[in-house]
Amino acid sequence: MGLAPVGYMNKITETGKKYIAPEITEATIMKWVFHELSTDPLAADQVRKEANKKGLKCGRSNFWRLVRNPVYCGKIFIPKYKDEEACLVQGQHDPIISEALFYEVQDILDGNKRKERPNTKMISNENLPLRGYLICPKCGQTITGSASKGKYSLYYYYHCSSSCGFRQRADHANDIFLKELKKFVPHPAIVDLSKVIIKQAYQTLFKQKRNVSE
Ligand SMILES: [Zn+2]
Repeated sequence: MGLAPVGYMNKITETGKKYIAPEITEATIMKWVFHELSTDPLAADQVRKEANKKGLKCGRSNFWRLVRNPVYCGKIFIPKYKDEEACLVQGQHDPIISEALFYEVQDILDGNKRKERPNTKMISNENLPLRGYLICPKCGQTITGSASKGKYSLYYYYHCSSSCGFRQRADHANDIFLKELKKFVPHPAIVDLSKVIIKQAYQTLFKQKRNVSE
């Protein structure tokens, strides 16, 4: 058994069996962290900073590992080994949070659940079409945008809504996004071919189903 994860401490029974048990101060902070993340999905790094103030000793990258660790809801991750697939098993230790809360936070961190929708008033500027939709790669906050007055004209920038300092030229970001979007435009031939394939697959499946029920 390695070093106990943050929120737990290594213990040993009278019979010499090693185990981990919640360490009350850190466990309370970790519990708070998960609850915070479940209510405010965009402020992950803010949550970490607050947790640091509360006494949690961990940097940004370690924090991301912690909030992804199922140990907090009582599970243990068993990595893939030879022919055995990776899996989660029930641990022997006490959970700090519920399984439901753990998965809710995972969904939010994965971006499957967005509680905040972009403000339409905010995205109406044609120079900043992505404003409110982008997430800061540095800190996870929403990216906003604004114009900056240059010598001869206005320059548009996307920048982080927190104080992390992330900033990019809007026209460059828009170009990259458009280029990426164009990759999804199918060739006309593929559209027709797809229709044929889907129709055939549907008919085959339908025929099989009918044969089974007959
Ligand atoms: Zn940021």
